[in-house]
Amino acid sequence: MADREDAAGRRISPTPGQVRQVAPGLRQVLAPNPSPMTLHGTNTWILGTGRVAVIDPGPALPAHLSAILAALAPGEVVSHILVTHAHLDHASLARPLAEATGAPVLAFGDALAGRSPAMQRLAAAGGGGGGEGTDHGFVPDEMLADGAEIAGEDWTLTALHTPGHFGNHLSFAWGERLFTGDQVMGWASSLISPPDGDVAQYLASLERLAAVGARVAHAGHGPDIADPAARIAELGAHRRQREAEVLEALAEAPGDAAGLAARIYTDTPPALLGAAARNVLAHLVDLTGRGIVAPRGPLTAAAVFERV
Ligand SMILES: [Zn+2]
Repeated sequence: MADREDAAGRRISPTPGQVRQVAPGLRQVLAPNPSPMTLHGTNTWILGTGRVAVIDPGPALPAHLSAILAALAPGEVVSHILVTHAHLDHASLARPLAEATGAPVLAFGDALAGRSPAMQRLAAAGGGGGGEGTDHGFVPDEMLADGAEIAGEDWTLTALHTPGHFGNHLSFAWGERLFTGDQVMGWASSLISPPDGDVAQYLASLERLAAVGARVAHAGHGPDIADPAARIAELGAHRRQREAEVLEALAEAPGDAAGLAARIYTDTPPALLGAAARNVLAHLVDLTGRGIVAPRGPLTAAAVFERV
C-alpha cells in the first residue's frame, strides 16, 4: 500500500480498517497494529468473491475482526482462513475469525513445524533465546503441505513452504501474484531470529520464490512489490553482505551477537538493534554449522564467537 498524500502532498499513513480493492477478486484490510516491526500494520487479504479466503487474519484485535467482517459484501461468506506463519501479528486472529465464520484455519503446521534440524538442536540445547511474537498455541485445522492447491469458486492458490523468517512459513501463489508474508517485504528485510528463523532456509526460500516468476508480490506488511524478482535478488544480496560484515568484524576481534550488531548496524535506530542482534546470531549459527566460526563454549545467544 503506497502512503496516501494529504491535500498539501504530504505522505500520510494508510488507515487501518479501510478496504482497498487491489485487483479484481483481491481486497486488502490493514490491521491497526503499527510498530517498528510491522510498519503501518499487518496486511490482511481477502481473495475471491462470494465465498472468499482470508489470508493472514492478523492480530487478535476485536476492531480488526470487525473490519474484516465489514469488508465482506452482503451475503459473502469466508470459506478458508489461510495463515502464512505463526507470529501473533499474522495468526492470532485466526481462531476468533474461525469461530465467527465457521471457516477452517489452514497452515503448514503448528508453531514448531518446519524448523530446520540445526534450529531444533539449538532449541533443545536452550539458551538461544528467540520466540519473540510467536503464537505458541497456534494449531491449524488443516495442514497444507508444500505444493498443496487450495481452491474456492473463483480462485486457486498454491501453497509454497518458504521457511527462513519462520519455520512454518507458507507463501501462496495466485496466478501472476504471490503472497509472501514476512519472507519478502518491500519496506524492510525480514527478521531472522533463531530458532524460528534460519539463514540457510531463508536464502533457499528466496530462490524458490524467485523461480515462481510472479509479476507482483503482496507482503505481510508494507506496500505491494511491483518487481518481485528484483526485490528478491536485493534481499539475497543484503543477507550475503551482512554475512561478509559479520566475518569482517570477527576478523578484527571476537564478539557476541549484540556486540557485533552494534559494530555492524551503525545506521540502525536503537529500537531495532535488538532485532539486528537476532539477525547476527542467525548468521553466527549458520556460520558455525558451516565450520567457518565457532563459539567459545556452548552455542547460546550470549556466546562469544571467533573465526576458526
Ligand atoms: Zn513474522
